[in-house]
Amino acid sequence: NREIHLVSRPDGWPTPENFRLVTTEVPTPGPGQVVVRNRFMSVDPYMRGRMNDVKSYVPPFALDAPLDGGAIGEVVAGEAGGVKPGDVVLHGLGWREYALVDARGARKVDPDLAPVTAYLGVLGMTGLTAYAGLLDVAAMKPGETVFVSGAAGAVGSMVGQIAKLRGAGRVIGSAGSRAKVERLTALGFDAAFDYHDGPVSKQLRAAAPDGVDVYFDNVGGDHLEAAIGAMNLHGRAAICGMIAQYNATEPPAAPRNLALVIGKRLTLRGFLVSDHGHLREQFVQEVAGWLREGRLSYDETVIDGIEQAPEAFLGLLRGENLGKMLVRL
Ligand code: NDP
Repeated sequence: NREIHLVSRPDGWPTPENFRLVTTEVPTPGPGQVVVRNRFMSVDPYMRGRMNDVKSYVPPFALDAPLDGGAIGEVVAGEAGGVKPGDVVLHGLGWREYALVDARGARKVDPDLAPVTAYLGVLGMTGLTAYAGLLDVAAMKPGETVFVSGAAGAVGSMVGQIAKLRGAGRVIGSAGSRAKVERLTALGFDAAFDYHDGPVSKQLRAAAPDGVDVYFDNVGGDHLEAAIGAMNLHGRAAICGMIAQYNATEPPAAPRNLALVIGKRLTLRGFLVSDHGHLREQFVQEVAGWLREGRLSYDETVIDGIEQAPEAFLGLLRGENLGKMLVRL
C-alpha cells in the first residue's frame, strides 16, 4: 500500500516537499471494518485550508499521517453493515491505495448507473454544492441573471448549467484561460470571460449590461468586488469559496465596496455543502435525469498514480483542471 503523508505545513503556496509518499502494509479489517482498494480520489480546494494548523469547520490534517478526502473504490476484504467484497463504495479516506474504512462511513454506489467518477463530482459533493448553493442558498428564480466565478471548475461548471436548466435569463462565467472560456460557451453560458484579460469589474459590466441578480462566488477578492458592484437591488450572493486567497500570506485587498450591500439591500450568504444533505435525493434525481437526457455535460481532469496526487492538488490550485480534478489510483 502506498499513501501520501503531509510532512510539513505550507506557508503560502504548497510545494512537493510538504508531501511524502510512504509505503505501508495493506490493512486487515477488524469488526465493523472493510478494506477498500481505492480507484479514484478527489483533490479539492478546501484541503489547502486543512493543511494549516488552525481551528476551522474541519480539523487540520495531522503531520506525518496520510491526508484524507473523498475516494471511491471496491471492497476487497471484510464484511460489515451491508457492505461486502465486490461492492463499490464512496468514503472519506483518499490519498492511499488501500483504505481501512468503518463500514458506517462507506456508502454503496451503483457502478452501472453512472461512471464511478461521477460520484466524486457531478453526482457527488461538488455537484451538490452547485445545486444547493444556487437553488437553496441564493434561491435563483427563472429569468434572473447569474454570474459564477471559477466557472470552468467542478462546482462552477455545474452552477452555470443548472442555472440555465432551471430557467435563468442570462448566465455569465469567468475562468482563467481562453480554452476554458470557449468551453463555457459550448456548455451553454450566455457570456464568459478570462479574468486575465482585464479588470473583472469592467468585463462583468460588459457581459451583464442589465446587472446581476445572483452571484455564485468561488473566488472572492476582485471577483466579489466586481459582483457587488454589478449586482441589482435585492441581489443575492452564495459565498461558496474564495480560492484567490487560499495561498495568500497577506489579507486580501478586495472587496473594497462592501458598503454597497446596504443601499442595494444585498444578501451575501456563506454556506457549507454539508448542511444541505437533505437535498441530496432531489439533487441526484434531477441531475441524473439531465445527464440521461444529454442536457448536462461534465468535464474531468484525471491524473494517474498515487505518487502524482500532490502534483494534482497543486495543479488544481494553479487552474490546470477543466471540471473535476481526480487522481486514478
Ligand atoms: P475547481 O474545480 O473550481 O478548481 C479550482 C479552480 O480555481 C481552478 O481550476 C482555477 O481555475 C481557479 N482558481 C485558482 N486560483 C484562482 C484565482 N486566484 N482566481 C480565480 N480563480 C482561481 O474547484 P471546486 O469546483 O472543487 O471548488 C470551487 C470552489 O468552491 C472553491 O473555492 C472551493 O473552496 C469551493 N467549495 C466550497 C464548498 C462549500 O461547501 N462551501 C464545497 C466545495 C467547494 P481558473 O483557471 O479559472 O483560474
